[in-house]
Amino acid sequence: MTIQEEILKKIKEYQKIIIHRHQSPDPDALGSQGGLAEILKASFPEKTILKAGGSVNDLGFLIHMDEVPKEEYEGALVIVTDTANAPRISGELYANGEKLIKIDHHPDDEPYGDLSWVNTGASSCSEIIYDFYDQFQSELTLTDEGARLLYAGIVGDTGRFMYPSTTPHTLQVASNLREYDFDAPLLNRQIAEMPLKVAKLSGYVLQNLEMDESGAARIVLPQSILLENDVLDSETSALIPLAGQIDNVVAWGLFVEQPEGNYRARLRSKGPVINTIAKKHNGGGHPLASGAKAVDLTEVDAMYQEIIEAVKEYN
Ligand code: AMP
Repeated sequence: MTIQEEILKKIKEYQKIIIHRHQSPDPDALGSQGGLAEILKASFPEKTILKAGGSVNDLGFLIHMDEVPKEEYEGALVIVTDTANAPRISGELYANGEKLIKIDHHPDDEPYGDLSWVNTGASSCSEIIYDFYDQFQSELTLTDEGARLLYAGIVGDTGRFMYPSTTPHTLQVASNLREYDFDAPLLNRQIAEMPLKVAKLSGYVLQNLEMDESGAARIVLPQSILLENDVLDSETSALIPLAGQIDNVVAWGLFVEQPEGNYRARLRSKGPVINTIAKKHNGGGHPLASGAKAVDLTEVDAMYQEIIEAVKEYN
């Protein structure tokens, strides 16, 4: 039996299925979670399908979560999408289910779950969920809303089909999804738009960007600047790609100071592998897009030096 067949078998066995995704969700976390929920609800109307994980921050245009109390987990199948390791699962109650399934596209460095389907060749977890639907089309149904969510996930994780993770298959899946009835231009706008206060902060980011002659760059966003502009860490995602728009920049990090004084690092690259750096600093992710943590500015400096080294080696 293939892993896809095993997963479908488990889904059929359970009356209640609770779907989780990662903390600080992005469009792919919510798209894969919500897209799978839509497919399962439409295909098995007699089952209870719930979406758990708490706040979706500024992505309320995509989806809303269900309130899922602990009792609901008894005898339930829990499926987690787009989440590399168990500590990053949003909603710690996930562990109270009867069986756990992981579906993801991140490197499988810290496996979890009774069943696990990881495809690192997929642009996004939403693409994998579409593939699951596609493989069992005779038994599964995809709704317009499900297609909207999966499309959002693919657009989000490929940077609108710009990143190297965009394969001919990704475009084929996106094309198939566009056959469904949803407002794709509106969705693209909603994903790309940002509040004025965040747009203004992009001025600070570009003014204060530090660039090495190798092509490495970094931006440190102090708490004082976030507070001054009334911007939360969870609202800074739109600032990450900015440095990459500069022609000479090859790899970069956005380091956002947290209220506790430590830093959330968000690393991006046009070529050099940077998840090895993230892994050394309490993080992980994809080869060209990963996240980590730095306890203080000294660790930020160390991480920046490692980015410089990675770029030099690549050049
Ligand atoms: P971000 O910079 O938060 O958008 O994350 C980029 C990628 O790195 C995503 O695929 C995340 O799942 C992953 N990632 C971010 N932070 C961490 C972390 N602390 N540990 C492991 N993976 C992370």
